[in-house]
Amino acid sequence: MSEPMIRLENIGKSYDGRTYAVRGMDLTIEKGDFVALLGPSGCGKSTTLMMLCGLYRPTEGSIYFNGRYVNNILPKDRNIGMVFQSYALYPNMNVFENIAFPLKQLKHLSKREIRKRVQEVANTVKIPELLHRMPSQLSGGQQQRVAMCRALVKDPDILLLDEPMSNLDARLKLEIRDEIKKLQERLALTAIIVTHDQEEAMAISSHIAVIDQGSIQQYAAPDVLYNRPKNLFVASFIGTPPMNFITGTLEPMGEDFVCITAGGNITIPAALIDCDLLTSRSVVLGIRPHNFKVVQSRENALTLSVDYIEHLGKENLYRCQMAETSIRVITAIDERYPTDEPLSVQIDLKMLNIFDEGSGDNITCDVVV
Ligand code: ADP
Repeated sequence: MSEPMIRLENIGKSYDGRTYAVRGMDLTIEKGDFVALLGPSGCGKSTTLMMLCGLYRPTEGSIYFNGRYVNNILPKDRNIGMVFQSYALYPNMNVFENIAFPLKQLKHLSKREIRKRVQEVANTVKIPELLHRMPSQLSGGQQQRVAMCRALVKDPDILLLDEPMSNLDARLKLEIRDEIKKLQERLALTAIIVTHDQEEAMAISSHIAVIDQGSIQQYAAPDVLYNRPKNLFVASFIGTPPMNFITGTLEPMGEDFVCITAGGNITIPAALIDCDLLTSRSVVLGIRPHNFKVVQSRENALTLSVDYIEHLGKENLYRCQMAETSIRVITAIDERYPTDEPLSVQIDLKMLNIFDEGSGDNITCDVVV
């Protein structure tokens, strides 16, 4: 079997010799994958990216590119392209010179070859008309595209992107996001993007590593993270509006279980829960706002009081309370319910996630119910 494009083996990085910014990180990335490193500020995303590009050396563990050990290889010899948050364009060079810079460092290319390659990449990123401008004469979006050209001009094996859209306004962000994704697919690049924006990560990447306190919490495709988050941290980080969390006590009831909550009792088939854990325990039910169904009967349903309704255009968001817990329920646009009466809702059990309250781990089994 061929080697993966990138393999991180038990990577750790400590800046001060006492605390770890990144710890015990294992990650395998195949050629053509687009991976997002996602997590809150300070979780270790940039540190991981800097170790991949070679600007920081890991304190422990090994990094391999295509099976080759690269811990001690200089950034310029790793065949990577990098786009920084600030774009880091040289202000005293025009666009052509900025893009040509990494090629000139190679020393062995003729002026003609350099001109050809800069022209080609400028055409690919659709900015051929900007080559003679200075960076100060460019909009944010144009600067971003120039930075992209400079990262791609050496035809890198790996493209590393550090929050590349955080300086753009909301509309341009969507446009550039689309362009980066198309370019990555067309050039079959292996790309890694650092972002704290879960919607951006979901939209652009084929796989997401959700990081918290220097450790990967889950590494999976976006739909897997969304539907089966491995723990409460991932569950609360992914999805807008966020997943609802309802605490309860799980008790055996005949062959199945009942979850006793402040808003009502919910029967849960035993097949939904990890067989080793069939004892009474405190749990947190995780339900996405789309996965409720409003019902007439209160049996096997939760009773909520409605605070107010937000009309979202194509659907309605009911902001509700269940005891001390706020709950969001999304219904179709033509489903309207009064705000002055309790709302009874059933949970779509196929989409339910059950977390052990103590460990935060997801204990749901993937079965058809
Ligand atoms: P993120 O990119 O997820 O915001 P970072 O990788 O920048 O996180 O930071 C992870 C941790 O390492 C943080 O606690 C941060 O303060 C620390 N850190 C980052 N860079 C340095 C540095 N150059 N020197 C010392 N500590 C650093």
